[in-house]
Order: sequence, then structure tokens, then C-alpha cells
Amino acid sequence: MPVALVTGGSRGIGAAIATALAADGYDVAVGYRGGADAAAGVVAAIEATGRRGVALAADVAVEDEAAGLVSATEDALGPIDALVLNAGITRDGLFMRMSSEDWQSVIDTNLTGAFYVTRAALRGMLKRRGGSIVAVSSVVGLTGNPGQANYAAAKAGLIGMVKSLAREAGGRGVRVNAVAPGYIATDMTADLPDATRDQILGATPLGRLGTPEDVAGVVSFLCSDAAGFITGSVISIDGGLAT
Ligand code: NAP
Repeated sequence: MPVALVTGGSRGIGAAIATALAADGYDVAVGYRGGADAAAGVVAAIEATGRRGVALAADVAVEDEAAGLVSATEDALGPIDALVLNAGITRDGLFMRMSSEDWQSVIDTNLTGAFYVTRAALRGMLKRRGGSIVAVSSVVGLTGNPGQANYAAAKAGLIGMVKSLAREAGGRGVRVNAVAPGYIATDMTADLPDATRDQILGATPLGRLGTPEDVAGVVSFLCSDAAGFITGSVISIDGGLAT
């Protein structure tokens, strides 16, 4: 059976991706940092589809833990066919007031963490001459956003990483893509002020926030054979917000 690793798979978008990939027939490793109960709930949902699931704690921003996440996935489930780089945080603040810690923690988790996990998983994919990597970037990485210079830099950085790696790994059959979600209803966006939410809805042609399943469907497609000629792409899932 094919194997997937989803970082940040315990909640929100990552949980929807993990269960969608299980429904597609993958055995799925659910990476998380602290939320063991939530991760166990996602594993139960995976197992309910008849596939194998495993919850693995690791802080992707710590190099050894990120590499350990990949080896623990391979030990538990087998070689990784699909890698979804979804773990992410926000530490918002206006540029002039942004602390170095808030800048660095977002870059470390959202960008460097993705690099660590990908590098650890890539060797096996290159050797086996196949695999699909999908990074969860953001509309903010394409457009920028006041108060999110750290987050936008990390998400734009992911796109640069994806496009570069797509060029390096394509010859070995490894596809590397990104999705750029708009505003999706999860814990991450739960505390948006009403005015901001109204402004976003007003600027979104489809007139609603996205759901985690809206993102999961596209990630599922990108991991599938139906996307066999797609690499280096960034697919927006934003209800038209960035058009
Ligand atoms: P969320 O509900 O806050 O979930 C974040 C996930 O990432 C959790 O599973 C969390 O694990 C994990 N995580 C955070 N830091 C980690 C670390 N250092 N190491 C390992 N895992 C870590 O977020 P979400 O809204 O689903 O977002 C998922 C991804 O989509 C993020 O990359 C986010 O930037 C991106 N995105 C979100 C939106 C949106 O509107 N929600 C829009 C565009 C892009 P624990 O719970 O165990 O800490």
C-alpha cells in the first residue's frame, strides 16, 4: 500500500488531508508537535477507512526531530510515496514591532522545518524514482499581508523551494508542488476580528471562507497519478481572493 506522511496532520487542514489520503488508499503517518489527543483522533479516522495510521510527535523546526519523523514513518509504515508539508504557525505583528523571535520561529517552523523533513524523505524517493511532495503555502505568500511579513516570507520561500526542487528531482520521477490556500476555517483563523473577516469575504468572489476539505481535495489530486504531469506548480485554493 502507498504511504503518506502529513506534517501538522493532527488538526485543521492537515487532519483533512490525512483522512482524504487514507480514503485514497494510503497508509498515513500523522505528524504533530503537542496535540497527542487530536492526532490520535485522526489516526482513528484513518483506521476507520481500513488503512493503517500512526501518530508521530516531532517538532519539525528541530533538525533531528524532523529527520526522526521521516525514519519513524518508514519504520512504522514503509517507504514514503507522498509527503505533505503542512505544519505551520503564525506570530503576527506589524513589521516595525515584530520581535526577532517571532520572525525566526515562523521561518524555522514553516520554511526550515519543511526543508528538514523534505531532505530526509527525498533520498528514498530519488532512489525509488518516484514520489509526490506537496507544500502547503498560502495566498499570503503570493500577495503579502500587513502584519504577516514573517509568515509571508516563509510561505513565499516554500514556493521557491518547491520550484527549485521540482527542477532537481523531476528527472528521477519525483513531483513537487504547492497549494496556496486563501482563508480556511480552522483554529488558525478562528480569532480573526469581525472587520477583517468581513473584508476577506468581500474580497473573495466565492463569498465564503474555505474548508479544510477544499484544500484536502486538491492535495489528494496532486498526490495522485491524475497529476502525473504536474510539477513545480502552485495551485491557489482561495475562492478567487488573489485573482
Ligand atoms: P492549525 O489548525 O493551527 O494546525 C497546525 C498544525 O501544525 C497542527 O497539527 C500543529 O500540531 C502543527 N504544528 C505547528 N507547529 C509545528 C511544529 N513546530 N512541528 C510539528 N507540527 C507543528 O493550522 P491550519 O489552519 O490547519 O494550517 C495548516 C497549514 O495551512 C499551515 O501551514 C498554514 O500556514 C497553512 N494555511 C492555513 C490557512 C488558513 O486560513 N487556515 C491559509 C493558508 C495556509 P500541534 O497541534 O500538535 O501543535
